[in-house]
Amino acid sequence: MSSSSSQLTVTDPAARVGERGRQLPLLVLGAESDRHSERGVSCPGELPLPSDPSLVRRADRARAELGDRAFILGHHYQRDEVIRFADVTGDSFKLAREAAARPGAEYVVFCGVHFMAESADILTSPAQRVILPDLAAGCSMADMATYSQVEECWENLEDLGLAETVVPVTYMNSSADIKAFTGRHGGTVCTSSNAKRALEWALGKGSKVLFLPDQHLGRNTAVLELGMSLGDCVVWDPHRPNGGLEPGALRAATMILWRGHCSVHGRFTAANVAAARRRMPDVSVIVHPECVHEVVTAADQVGSTEKIIATIEKAPAGSAWAVGTELNLVQRLAQTYQDKTIVFLDKTVCYCSTMNRIDLPHLVWAMESLATGQVVNQITVDPQTAIEARAALDQMLALP
Ligand code: SF4
Repeated sequence: MSSSSSQLTVTDPAARVGERGRQLPLLVLGAESDRHSERGVSCPGELPLPSDPSLVRRADRARAELGDRAFILGHHYQRDEVIRFADVTGDSFKLAREAAARPGAEYVVFCGVHFMAESADILTSPAQRVILPDLAAGCSMADMATYSQVEECWENLEDLGLAETVVPVTYMNSSADIKAFTGRHGGTVCTSSNAKRALEWALGKGSKVLFLPDQHLGRNTAVLELGMSLGDCVVWDPHRPNGGLEPGALRAATMILWRGHCSVHGRFTAANVAAARRRMPDVSVIVHPECVHEVVTAADQVGSTEKIIATIEKAPAGSAWAVGTELNLVQRLAQTYQDKTIVFLDKTVCYCSTMNRIDLPHLVWAMESLATGQVVNQITVDPQTAIEARAALDQMLALP
C-alpha cells in the first residue's frame, strides 16, 4: 500500500547498540512528505528487529527523559510493541480529544496515520506539536478523496442546480483538506460511532448527503440505521466523467456516496462469514461498518472499533467470536480475553499496512530526537484549512 516500503531493510540490531550520539542517526527516516497524498513519500533507513531488547531499553529511556513534555497516543490498530508505550489508546477521534485535553504536553506523538495526526493538530493548542513517527503512515481510504476531485464533484452538483440541497458529511478518515471543504459547505465530520446522528442532522438541513470518502459506512448507515433502500444511494466515481452518473440518478438519490473504501475492512466477504459459521457453529460474527453491505448484513453485529471492544469485553466466558476488523486489534482482544474464543474473520491475515509503518524503531527515533530537542516529523495544518476543518469538527461535537 505504501509507496516506499521497499526502501526499508532489517539488519542486525547488535551492530547499532552504542552511545546515544552514535544511535541517533540510526533512523534517517521520513525526510519528505507529499501534501497531496496520505502516504508520505520517503522512508529510507535501516531498521533493527522490533523485538530487540536494546530497542525497548532505548524506548524506556527516551520516554522517561521526555516525561510530561510528551503524550503518546496509540490507535487500536497499532502493533503491540508500540501500544505498550502509549499513554492512551483509542479510535482516531478519542485520541485527538485526549491530546486536546492535555495542553501541557509539548509533544503529542501520534502512533496512528496521517489524517489522525492532522486532526490532533487542528484540535490541540498552537503551542503543541504533533509528531507522526513515520510520514509514510497514511490511509489509502483518505487518499481516495482528493481535494481537486471533491471540488470537481461539487462543481458538477452546482451545474445541475443540486448543490444547495446537498450537505457534505465526511468520515473522520479523510484529509484536513476534505474536512475543510466540508466545513466550508456547512457540513459535518462523523465517526463510525455517530454516523447515524450525522446523517439525521444533515438530512434535516438538506435533502441529499454527499458522503465522503467511505461508501460502505455511508451505505450501511443509511440503509441499516435510517431505513433507506439501496436504491436511495448512488456512487460517485471520481475517476469517471460526471462521477459515472446520469443527472437523473443524482436528482433521484438521497445519498451520494463517494467511491472510497478501506483496504482492510473491504477485503472481508460474505463467504468469510459463512465459512466462520461452518467452522464454529456457535460463533457470533461482529464486523466494522467499513465492511461491504453484504458482510454487514450477514454478520450478527456491526459496530465501531470501540463498540467491538466493548461488546467482546462484556461477552460471557466461553463465547466465540469471529471479528471483522484490523488484525492487530483482533489479536490483542484474543490475548486479553482468553476465556473467550476470538478469531479473525478472514483466514488470510491482513494488517493495515500503513498503520504498521509505525513500529518501535520509528517510535524510538522520534522520542530520542524529541528528547534531544530535535523536532522531527511534525504534522501541521495550515491556519485557514484548520479553521474550516475545525468548523466541521465542531459541528460534529454539536450533533444532537
Ligand atoms: S484500517 Fe483502513 S481506514 Fe484505517 S488507516 Fe488503515 S486503510 Fe485507513
